[in-house]
Amino acid sequence: MVENVVIIGSGPAGWAAAIYVARASLKPLVFEGALTAENQTRGTLPLGQLALTTEVENYPGFPAGNLSQFLDTAIINDKRQYMAPHTGHGVTGPELMELMRQQAVNFGTRVITDDVVDIDLSKRPFRMQTLEGMEVQAHSVIIATGARANYLGLPSEDRFKNRGVSACAVCDGALPRFRDRPLVVVGGGDSAMEEATYLTKFASRVYIVHRRDAFRASKVMADRALGNPKITVKWNSHVEEVLGSDEDGVTGVRIRTQPGDHEEALEAGGYFAAIGHTPNTDFLKGQLQLTDKKYLVWTKPFRTHTSVEGVFAAGDVADDYYRQAITAAGSGCMAALDCERWLATQDVH
Ligand code: NAP
Repeated sequence: MVENVVIIGSGPAGWAAAIYVARASLKPLVFEGALTAENQTRGTLPLGQLALTTEVENYPGFPAGNLSQFLDTAIINDKRQYMAPHTGHGVTGPELMELMRQQAVNFGTRVITDDVVDIDLSKRPFRMQTLEGMEVQAHSVIIATGARANYLGLPSEDRFKNRGVSACAVCDGALPRFRDRPLVVVGGGDSAMEEATYLTKFASRVYIVHRRDAFRASKVMADRALGNPKITVKWNSHVEEVLGSDEDGVTGVRIRTQPGDHEEALEAGGYFAAIGHTPNTDFLKGQLQLTDKKYLVWTKPFRTHTSVEGVFAAGDVADDYYRQAITAAGSGCMAALDCERWLATQDVH
């Protein structure tokens, strides 16, 4: 059997594409990712980056208000019982993703909880293999695998991952080990501001360590962080080592500040990297045209076509600029329409 459309990825782009493809009676198959420890560590579990956030206030259609009753009826109880109680702030990331997933399933999307680890785009039908060894052929593919958080690449970051080192404050910040202790956030963009501000709910103090003397973050978010009395900024500073022990995990961070080449050890119970993202394109092994930052290239202006006919890209995997849930969902819709029209030219309906 050859699938009409395989969608790889399960963030807003993947589900929007699935909803459109399913409503066009093309019976999409979604690989939503595998529930592995490696994916947990990398931040590439099913439902994407939005599943790692709290409130989503800028996704149209979800104004502040209590959605609990609706969520109770829309999401199966097995999943609903593990979702955080609704706060009245619109919708949370995990809720939004479950709703999108359910909407795609309601229209006949089939979902497989597995990673595509090998893909051959050199001839049609395209061939894929998953982590668990499933083999699939498809007339067309929509890639919506998103992006994941970067780390500095220090051996000491690796050593203490999940023991005080994290790249997602909103996922991990409420853990007991971070409470009432100083914490360090690295970076100077919107993510660093957001994470630092969020962590002040739990931490005794939050240090933002930034390599320059000015933030890249938007003014409103930078001002919010700078105005927070619990936040201290270490300007012109690089993290050289995450300090800790096997028993205690992270206990501090050693930084070096210029000018003066001043070395300092900050006591800290946690270290959060907020230094940008890497697109999840490794599994493509160079078969599609990528940018120098390894994002997928849309080869036609304002279209979602990639460098291989029949393969389309949507969401953060092809976007290092907007990176919003709404833009990802929008491009998922575009990819579905582009794919559907291309399949019609191939007489696949
Ligand atoms: P970003 O804007 O690319 O910022 C990355 C930050 O990390 C920069 O300050 C950069 O320093 C620093 N950095 C990068 N590599 C580093 C290294 N090796 N060592 C030390 N520092 C390093 O990434 P982001 O903050 O994740 O934001 C990405 C996009 O998402 C942006 O468009 C942002 O507006 C958006 N976003 C929006 C919201 C929101 O509106 N709620 C929240 C989060 C993110 P330099 O400044 O020196 O380059």
